[in-house]
Amino acid sequence: MNNNYCCQCGKPRRNLTEPLRDALFIDDLISTLQHRKQHPDLPAGTNEISPQMIAHWGVRRNGGTDEQMHICDGCLLLAVRAIHKSVSSVLAELDSVVNGAARSSKSS
Ligand SMILES: [Zn+2]
Repeated sequence: MNNNYCCQCGKPRRNLTEPLRDALFIDDLISTLQHRKQHPDLPAGTNEISPQMIAHWGVRRNGGTDEQMHICDGCLLLAVRAIHKSVSSVLAELDSVVNGAARSSKSS
């Protein structure tokens, strides 16, 4: 397959820069300890000693986004927009539940 063209839509493609390539796949370990410190009165045995979560999102085709990935910027944009739409929806709902409740308790 000719890597000069997008395998999805057939348009000419450029080589992805390393920062963009790296940004298309995030797999971060997040400590929630600071969040827990905001709630110091939790009952014993209800949480981990070193609380951590894995935050993950990515765009892949056949297992990766290395320099050989032959997908054009336009097709990548479609994938990133789909992720953005999903994340924005979840973020709005969680923000409303978490911070909306906090705002209500401060105003009452
Ligand atoms: Zn394309």
